[in-house]
Parts: sequence; structure tokens; C-alpha cells
Amino acid sequence: MKAETRGIHGGYEESRFLGSSAVPIFSTVSYAHLTAEEIEEVFAGKKPGYIYTRISNPTTSILETRIAELEGGIGCIATSSGMGAISATIMALLKSGEHLVSASGIFGGTISLFDKTLKRFGVDTTFVDSDEAEDFESAVNEKTKAIFIEAIGNPKMNVVDIPGIAEVARKHNIPLILDNTLISPYILKGYESEADIVIHSSTKYINGHGTAMGGLLTDTGRYDWSSGSFDDIRELSKEYRNLAFLVWVRNLIYRDLGCCPSPVNSFFMLQGLETLCFRMEKHVENARRLAKWLEENKDVKWVNYPGLPSSPYYGRVEKLFNGKGGGLLTFGLGSREKAFRFINSLEIAKNLANLGDAKTLVIHPASTIFHEFSDEEREAMGVTEDMIRVSVGIENIEDIIGDFDKAITTAMEE
Ligand SMILES: *Cc1c(COP(=O)(O)O)cnc(C)c1O
Repeated sequence: MKAETRGIHGGYEESRFLGSSAVPIFSTVSYAHLTAEEIEEVFAGKKPGYIYTRISNPTTSILETRIAELEGGIGCIATSSGMGAISATIMALLKSGEHLVSASGIFGGTISLFDKTLKRFGVDTTFVDSDEAEDFESAVNEKTKAIFIEAIGNPKMNVVDIPGIAEVARKHNIPLILDNTLISPYILKGYESEADIVIHSSTKYINGHGTAMGGLLTDTGRYDWSSGSFDDIRELSKEYRNLAFLVWVRNLIYRDLGCCPSPVNSFFMLQGLETLCFRMEKHVENARRLAKWLEENKDVKWVNYPGLPSSPYYGRVEKLFNGKGGGLLTFGLGSREKAFRFINSLEIAKNLANLGDAKTLVIHPASTIFHEFSDEEREAMGVTEDMIRVSVGIENIEDIIGDFDKAITTAMEE
């Protein structure tokens, strides 16, 4: 099955659910078993079955199977948010005294997790301010347990050398974790990215309508857990082979962190997946047209969209994402005051912190998402005072451009 078909049918058999054509929402905490012996076997992992929704749930399982199929991976775990998926993955792999190599210029919440929260637990992160594999390799030391990157840096809009960094990770026998939120499994399939673990904030394009929080972590099956340097997971691989990482996460880290999604939210994600392919095409096309229009506008000081032929990342977008540069762009009008006036003058586009919604969304990152960082830190992350971030929606592009045209004119007048 191709992605469009899998997004609609993957992981679901109506006959197992009384013929229900829509995936049912199993709004239950627990699962009754016929005998004490049976529940004992389920607890021991000797018999498949459900115990408690913090560990697994039938609605969520269908979402996980559908994502694993779309990604070409061996399994997926759905979480309560994108941050939940990143936290569970990192806490499953690293312990106190160990080291992580991460791209810089990534999602602010992830930087905060690595630099503030995990630091308190003795996990040290080196942020690499480069897009090139050799700089990632230079940051790896004998304590490094994983490399973390984003497909398109948010809000830096940079595209790192994903296959080159995957090669570095293989050479050092550590997993590469790719946050592919901005590109989606439709544009870049997890397995084909060459990453070992692929993360999505499904809150964004997968949900697609700004109605539910969620996260996903998928094991692409590329990393050999039986020969890795993770003692506990290597031990588990004797019984569970390459599913060892997912078993380790589900039965310990995920269960203990309590980052399970609500089954209702899993339903929203399944519904979003049905139209993901079509929405992504439109997000990309609208973003490309808006970026081109902004680039030609005399009042616009700069535009960052990796899908523009003038972008230094366009070659990588062509090679890695089949020419599709995603739906997010940033631009500047020269000052924070102009950015604020522009945002205040918009009528169609909404001013809010989400991205990947059907609606066009704008935000001033320096004063919001990055407010807790110092001026120097913001500058290092490429978050300028005049930066406006746009998540281009799927409205008619002429309406979006018309809205931006009027708001830019007003921002310049006053
Ligand atoms: C939003 C986002 C996250 C965090 O996801 P939540 O669902 O908000 O927890 C992580 N990575 C990227 C790239 C994001 O855009």
C-alpha cells in the first residue's frame, strides 16, 4: 500500500470491532480478564492483552500500527505530546553521567529539556551549531549515547545532512534520533531517513486541525539493539530481539513516566492521518507561493524557507524531501515594532504558538516561545528580534497573500 492508502486503512480491521467503519474510541482505564491465571499471563508478557491504558489501549494501538506502517518501522509508541515522546526516548537511552549530541536551532521546548531539565539528572548535552556531519562527529565522545536532530530546524529553518549524520551515528554505534515533525511521515518516511528512532509531535501536521496534543516515537528497525552499548536493552534483546527498545520503553520508561495519550486524542490523530497526504501537499504549495511573494516584496528584509530555490538548503530539500520544503517559514520586516504591528494587523492569520494547523498561524518567537532565553542565547539560536514565524495553512493562497499584503503595508506606514 502507498502512503495515501495506509493513512486511511493501516492497522485496522473492521471485522475485529463489530464492523465499525470508524476506529472505535476505547474510553476505558482497565481491561477485565476471565480468570486470575489469564491476567497473570498478561502481566508476565506471556499472553498478549491489555492491562491498563497508561501502558496500552486498543484505539492507541491502531494509531501506533498505522504510524509504524507509514514510517516503514518495526513499531511505534504514541505519547501524550511531542515532548512526551522526546522525554521517553532520551530517558530510555541515557542515564546520569552520559552525553547527548544535539543539533542547535531546534524546537525551544526540546532545548529546554536537554539544557535545563535533563541537566539536573546528570545528562550532558553538546549543541552543534552546524549542519554538517563532521561537526556532529567532533562532538561525539566516549560517553555519547545518541545524536538528536530535526528534519527542518524550528525556527532556524535549516536542513542538516541527515544521511551524513546517520553515517556518523553508525560508525560510533549509537542511535540517531530524528524529530521529523515539520516534514511528516508522508514527505519523509522514517525508515528512508536512515534515522534509528523517529519522533513526531502529532499535535502538528498529523492532527492537522489544532484539536489534540500527541507524540509518536517509532523504531525504524535500523539499530541493532543486540550489539549496542545499552546494557539493559541488549539483555532484553535476547528474548525480544529487535523489539527490545520498544519493550524497554513501554514496560518501564513510558509506563513510569505516565506519558500515555488519551484514547480520544488517538482517535483525533487517526482522523488526521486520513487526510495528511493531501493537506501536506497544500501546506507545501501555499508555503512555497507565500515565500516567493515575500521574497519579491520590497518591505520584507529577509525570508527563510528551505523550499525556495534561493535557500542554501534547497539542494538538500530536493534530495531528501523530494523538493518539498514543509509548511513553515520565517521572515523579517527589520524590527520588533514592525513585527508586532504586522501581527496586530492580520485578519485571517491567527497569532498563536501552534503550527501545522489547517489555519495560517503567525507568532513572534523572540517574545514568546524563546522569552526565557537571554539575548545572546536567542542570537545563537538564530532567533532575531524582527523574526516572524508563519505556519502556512491550507486556505486559498490568494486570501493569505492578500492578508499579508495589507498587514505589511500597515506595519510600514505607522
Ligand atoms: C511542537 C514541537 C515539539 C513538541 O511537541 P508538543 O506536542 O508540543 O509537545 C517537538 N518538536 C517540534 C519540531 C515541534 O514543532
